[in-house]
Amino acid sequence: MTPAAAVIVAAGRGRRMGRGGNKVFLPLAGRPLLWWTLRAFEACPAIAGVVIVVGEGEEEDAGKIAARFAKIRAICPGGETRGQSVTAGLARLPERAEAGGPLPIVAVHDGARPLVTPALIAACVETAAARGAALPALPITDTLKRVRPDGTVQATVERAGLYGAQTPQTFRRDLLLEAYARARAEGYEGTDDASLVERLGHPVPIVPGEPENLKVTVADDLPRAAAVLDRRFPIAETRVGLGYDVHRLVEGRPLVLGGVPIRHSHGLEGHSDADVLLHALCDALLGACALGDIGLHFPNTDPRYRGIDSRELLRAVVRLLADAGWEPRQVDVTLLAEAPRIRPHVPAMQSAIAADLGLSPDRVSVKATTSERLGFVGRQDGMAAWAVATVARRDLP
Ligand code: MG
Repeated sequence: MTPAAAVIVAAGRGRRMGRGGNKVFLPLAGRPLLWWTLRAFEACPAIAGVVIVVGEGEEEDAGKIAARFAKIRAICPGGETRGQSVTAGLARLPERAEAGGPLPIVAVHDGARPLVTPALIAACVETAAARGAALPALPITDTLKRVRPDGTVQATVERAGLYGAQTPQTFRRDLLLEAYARARAEGYEGTDDASLVERLGHPVPIVPGEPENLKVTVADDLPRAAAVLDRRFPIAETRVGLGYDVHRLVEGRPLVLGGVPIRHSHGLEGHSDADVLLHALCDALLGACALGDIGLHFPNTDPRYRGIDSRELLRAVVRLLADAGWEPRQVDVTLLAEAPRIRPHVPAMQSAIAADLGLSPDRVSVKATTSERLGFVGRQDGMAAWAVATVARRDLP
């Protein structure tokens, strides 16, 4: 087998996700999305070295994810365009494998395609070694329409011979470098790598793509991708954890519950934003994994956590779980509060928590009860929250 290097391009802003930040750091099946992409390349024997291209300032976050993999040779910042990012990655490509042999083949892969299989990567490397280039692609099955700006159909496009291009697009290294040099010189900006090689007049053979090799583009793609990973890597063990927290109600503090700011005469007192609901949830997640509690990991004597958004704590808890091999599967939280009315805010709380846990909102239950004017909750001296969380671990080959 001809040894190959890979450039994983993950410098995109993901505007279509409807969330800030780089989508490759979003949680997917308990790990950052990028982790699954890197895992596929790590598991492919044809790949001898990997370069990761991320956004400026994201190198450290990517480094934490990459730390578990042996084949990562460099992590570098990308550019404004995809082409600039690939160029930055190519510049950092190792000339030789760690074992010393040359790396004549380069696979360029979208970081946001976490479901690529080692088998597809190997097939692309094999074809590129034999024929100079390989493009994984599938025939288009939908009927294609060209649509006018007013939203009506202008024409039906002949579908025969049309394919949808995937990655990893794989090439002989000298051919890919020449294609990028030519494109740069001529000011050509393609949307993939094969188009640059096509411009050289070099044939680009198709390798059968994989229907599941989807590019995570919109928020709905994440649960679809998670369902595929659930099937490929079944759950091996499930555990349950319990969390409980109380905060005092005081004047002059904002009220934040379940990550959502709520207008109220009083707010909760605390070192952080005092989001009692998320604190109970963090303790349930940590408890399920026997990883201690929120006070152990984020002590209220530490100035770093003063006024902190508890959603940041929740995301940090998810990372602690992932480091120990666990992922959240489902959570249920009950808030005890006499006022204000909570129900109108529940959908916003569910979607905030679901985003931070990498779960679909139907796995996040948030509910509230008064305590019939009894006790400290009834006197509106404070609020309390109970949470139960299910976590799971899978056996990853
Ligand atoms: Mg607390």
